[in-house]
Amino acid sequence: MPSHNDLLYHYCDKGDGWMEYDARGIPLQFVCHECCDVKMAQYRPDVLSNPQYEADEPIEGEPENGF
Ligand SMILES: [Zn+2]
Repeated sequence: MPSHNDLLYHYCDKGDGWMEYDARGIPLQFVCHECCDVKMAQYRPDVLSNPQYEADEPIEGEPENGF
């Protein structure tokens, strides 16, 4: 069985995997069915589901959330 680390840096078979994008359509990682759970667990859920996720550049009109 591959270890967690093996999956985190898994080199996916191109014909077997797919590119995962965040909620803004920015490519994150190439994954396959073997490693997608481990690789995608690195990302905050809001990055994947909320196009307004916190980024480096401030978004006008967005209230500060205290973090
Ligand atoms: Zn993979």
